[in-house]
Amino acid sequence: MPLTSSFYSKIEQQVAELLKAVNILQAPVPVDQIARFCGAVVLPYELGNEVSGVLVYEESRGTIGYNASHSTKRQRFTIGHELAHLLLHVNKHKSKDLFVDKDFIVKWRYNKIYSQKEFEHEQEANAFAAALLMPKEFLIKEMQKEKYAEMTEIKLIEELAKVFQVSIQAMTYRFADLNKFAYAT
Ligand SMILES: [Zn+2]
Repeated sequence: MPLTSSFYSKIEQQVAELLKAVNILQAPVPVDQIARFCGAVVLPYELGNEVSGVLVYEESRGTIGYNASHSTKRQRFTIGHELAHLLLHVNKHKSKDLFVDKDFIVKWRYNKIYSQKEFEHEQEANAFAAALLMPKEFLIKEMQKEKYAEMTEIKLIEELAKVFQVSIQAMTYRFADLNKFAYAT
């Protein structure tokens, strides 16, 4: 089931509050700093080729491990994604909980091995990471700058991806989602 517009509004709201609390006013969003503000320990891990990140929840504390070999942009998305699991999905009644993430965007490929709930959680974590790394208000403000006025959409997305330190793919998805929900909120 696709995520609902009310879920997106909730996420946007939560991210806006978080950015305000940490006093982040512009891109690039320091996602590791925000994760630490939320009580997480953030560490590079040797995770091999397949795993992007992990979240270990133990004794009321979350540890986010990101793949030390991945690009900075990918690591930033991973940290945002694992932070979402910590804030939204960890079962706080359990003494221990664990999330292991491979590729995020193409997860539906593997959806046979995920339960419906897990699949929803993955979608939600991606939406949260996107909203955190590319806050709607920051994007709107950035795009008002003169230098973007004459750019084609492809060039615009490329330039914004640099400013926000995300992949072009992540920025493209973010634009698609913002367009989809622009009139729904
Ligand atoms: Zn995940």
